[in-house]
Amino acid sequence: MSKLPEVRYWSKEFETIDRPSLKKLQVKRLKETVSCALKTSFYKARLKKAGINGPEDIKTLDDLEKIPFTTKDDLRECYPGGLLSVSLEEVVRIHTSSGTTGTPTVIYHTGADVDRWTDLVARSITATGAGRKDIFQNMMSYGMFTGGLGLHYGAERVGMTVIPIGGGNTRRQIQLMHDFKTTVLHITPSYMLHIHSKTGECGFSVNDLNLRKAYLGAEPYSENTRRKVESLFNIDVYNSYGLSEMNGPGVAFECVYKCGMHTWEDAYILEITDPKTRESLGPEKEGEIVFTTLTRKATPLLRYRTRDLAFVHGGECRCKRTHRRLSRITGRTDDMLIVNGVNVYPSQIEEVIMRVPQVGNNYQICLEKEGTLDKLIVKVEIYSKMFRGDLGEIEILKEKIKTELRAAIVINAVIELHEPGVLPVFEGKAKRVIDTRQKL
Ligand code: ADP
Ligand code: ZN
Repeated sequence: MSKLPEVRYWSKEFETIDRPSLKKLQVKRLKETVSCALKTSFYKARLKKAGINGPEDIKTLDDLEKIPFTTKDDLRECYPGGLLSVSLEEVVRIHTSSGTTGTPTVIYHTGADVDRWTDLVARSITATGAGRKDIFQNMMSYGMFTGGLGLHYGAERVGMTVIPIGGGNTRRQIQLMHDFKTTVLHITPSYMLHIHSKTGECGFSVNDLNLRKAYLGAEPYSENTRRKVESLFNIDVYNSYGLSEMNGPGVAFECVYKCGMHTWEDAYILEITDPKTRESLGPEKEGEIVFTTLTRKATPLLRYRTRDLAFVHGGECRCKRTHRRLSRITGRTDDMLIVNGVNVYPSQIEEVIMRVPQVGNNYQICLEKEGTLDKLIVKVEIYSKMFRGDLGEIEILKEKIKTELRAAIVINAVIELHEPGVLPVFEGKAKRVIDTRQKL
């Protein structure tokens, strides 16, 4: 890994704004957002019911509590136009979510909305120390998925040389990385690991590439996976978080210190709430992330419940940015698995298997019914040289993973070890969990 470069800012005034001024700005922008929201039939009814008839009803940030939450179901009910707060003539772009968990939701953008989003991405890229000298290969899908165009616009604004290849076509990806000496990638963690498996097959080694950094996001991954990718490619990995409801990437991004993702609080109000009681939680306490847009005109969203779980780091970052840092996303409120009554998040399983050195680049979590009981099967690819050696070692490894998993999640899992290339590969968001229990 490279030495930490100097801290650079895209818009220093906003990135290092003192907290009282930031709060003032948030109140001003919240008022504007409420005005905008009142132009939609959905929020007009909602806000009036809550006693908010105009921006004058918002005086301090404490007034946020008066505003009801907005859920993904609300967005679905408003599909396609119920949350549009400007005339369609002002809209220059429509994005929908990838629909990981059902019907997609739609977000409209005016030209100024896209411009402000682009600036947040440019700010995020600069925070990682990248800039106009970099060759940026965007391996996230383009189209409706925000990971493509979102990063693309920001990277161009920074002045990077952009290779807009999008997702898939692994051989070509590797060839282009080699030929154009790509320095920065934007990619999902699962696909990044797959790229590593294929580099040798394409006749290259990691040392033939010129990679320096990768922005990994769009799906949950553990700190162990970050470390693994960093050591496999000898690069720095930065966590990137966003969701289409909040524009897409550029909501929260790690700086060169890689200790949590600065959430751009001049553009979003960040709350962490207890998923059950809805109580607002302080630093270091894990809960559901709730966001309010502060600068989007075409589709303002108030207190949107993301269903993503995380916490806010306490203390200040050495980069001097004043925007609070979000932890790694530990899961979604809707991806918790209940295995024979025990609650477990897929991320807990990943954390354990990715710290085992013999484990390769892919895994899958399967849940089946065995009689009345649930059976958890963890399928793990391991490096092929293991299969050529003493098979007794494979049994020992299985037992080791099983014991470590039991210690972490209190479940006795069945461990299957596979040769590389056996488990399904995803070029976009990975689907790691196969749950067939309901069908029986
Ligand atoms: P969806 O997947 O809900 O259809 P999006 O394509 O907008 O919609 O994906 C956003 C979701 O992807 C987030 O809500 C979060 O669950 C996940 N995500 C994005 N970035 C990260 C990240 N860095 N770590 C973990 N999860 C992430
Ligand atoms: Zn920082």
